[in-house]
Amino acid sequence: MATNFGLFGTYPFTLPPLPYAYNALEPFIDEETMHYHHDKHFATYIKNLNEALKPYPFLQRLPLEQILCSVRGLPPESRTAILNNGGGVYNHTLFFNGLAPASEDVHMPEGELLEAIEGFFGSFENFKEEFSKSAAEVFGSGWTVLASDQFGNLSIINIKDQETLLCEGLEPVILFDVWEHAYYLKYKNERADYIKNLWNVIRFR
Ligand code: MN
Repeated sequence: MATNFGLFGTYPFTLPPLPYAYNALEPFIDEETMHYHHDKHFATYIKNLNEALKPYPFLQRLPLEQILCSVRGLPPESRTAILNNGGGVYNHTLFFNGLAPASEDVHMPEGELLEAIEGFFGSFENFKEEFSKSAAEVFGSGWTVLASDQFGNLSIINIKDQETLLCEGLEPVILFDVWEHAYYLKYKNERADYIKNLWNVIRFR
């Protein structure tokens, strides 16, 4: 999944529509969760990011990736709001674009990516097991990411809240949102079941 320059837009940021229907990920992710997650949670990150950037025309001209990596250039009084909400916009854009209906033939990596996964984790099954274990271990709110560096080295990384790996030069290949808001309506406290089912709708290509 390439993080195309411009995928995230610029100020004022707008809520991108889902690239599939709200019920398209049933039964693994339910329609009601998709409405809350996309229309409420994701929309709120966008709204709050725009509000946080409102007083700063010099930041409004920058692409999101650059804003998030200009940490020292961010106004101290707005830094936390910009990073939290900007990270939320970045992560959710990738997350929703990284899902597809279970019926589509995109849920298995192939070619170079499959070879790399097998090289770094032994097998695709073993990778899924390690990734799922890592996602189960996120304490509180956060994400689990399969990240690639510029040389194609793969690693499984847990991040907190709405942090991103962007400024460390790491590209998310897949990412699991393990905030409770991503699964609580359907799965309640059973995060492991959500993680297990999410594999059915994660796109690798
Ligand atoms: Mn989320």
